[in-house]
Amino acid sequence: MKYLVTGAAGFLGANLCQRLLNDGHQVIGLDNYHSGSQANIVALKKHPQFSFIEHDIIKPYDIPCDVLCNLACPASPPHYQKDPIYTLKISVIGTLHALENAERYKALVLHTSTSEIYGDPLVHPQPESYLGNVNLVGPRACYDEGKRAAETLCADYTRLGKVDARLVRIFNTYGPCMRDDDGRVVTNFIKQALAGKALTVYGAGQQTRSFCYVDDLIEGFIRVLALPENVGPINLGNPHEFTMLELAAEVQRLVGSKLPLQFEPMPIDDPMQRQPNISKAKKYLHGWEPKVQLAEGLEKTIAFFRAQK
Ligand code: UDP
Repeated sequence: MKYLVTGAAGFLGANLCQRLLNDGHQVIGLDNYHSGSQANIVALKKHPQFSFIEHDIIKPYDIPCDVLCNLACPASPPHYQKDPIYTLKISVIGTLHALENAERYKALVLHTSTSEIYGDPLVHPQPESYLGNVNLVGPRACYDEGKRAAETLCADYTRLGKVDARLVRIFNTYGPCMRDDDGRVVTNFIKQALAGKALTVYGAGQQTRSFCYVDDLIEGFIRVLALPENVGPINLGNPHEFTMLELAAEVQRLVGSKLPLQFEPMPIDDPMQRQPNISKAKKYLHGWEPKVQLAEGLEKTIAFFRAQK
């Protein structure tokens, strides 16, 4: 099968491409390095079944494929807020172009949405039926509302019978191939701990996130694509919740140094709690659930960053 992966140079894109190549598929990666890393593509290019096209998805493209995985979008808050108008264009116009290309070639689509579509949730944990609590004019809205509109496009293309677009809502994920400057909590803590610096905790560190190791997430993608029919959006993430203080303690333990914590202001609209309800994934994806424990996943991620230094 021929897969087209937008955002191939990004963290999830690179991991997905590698998994598809391991499974024996032909993969075309598309990226313009807006937030992806050239190093990820250099590693993928060593595989004979991989080819790469440098392209900005807000411009249309025409690339034959059997399956189109739409992953292109900056996803860490500092990156997507740096150029908010471009972020919105990537989500909305980029997804439209993905759907147009898929319709042309009758390709199956996997569109990666996000737990951010739930905003600062008032329902906990979040099931797919929860419609969210997003501040539509806040600094996160360029991403949250862009991703919500992208889901709408996918749902309408599917309803109209133009394309079969499968939607996954990704909760916090971490692992090798993340950018060390992506500004997310896992990368910040690891980078700071490896440099022997204080760990920056925003607010009191009592806010929670549930962290999924990337291999578990990619397995979820593969199972969604293998479903005999479209079952609507599916949450993919780890239901095990940690506070940022617990995460800091775990990183310190694994790196082997007790570093001070530096408390900084809580960012605007930063959700206090986020945890997926994964009943739907378990039901439709043959009992899918994350297998990799936080300590094991963090160890692999720390090893990746140590090797980068
Ligand atoms: N955070 C933190 N220290 C950091 C970076 C982030 O305490 O150096 C917090 C942030 O305020 C948020 C949580 O960690 O509550 C997760 O942030 P991240 O940027 O990783 O992803 P988000 O889930 O907010 O998209």
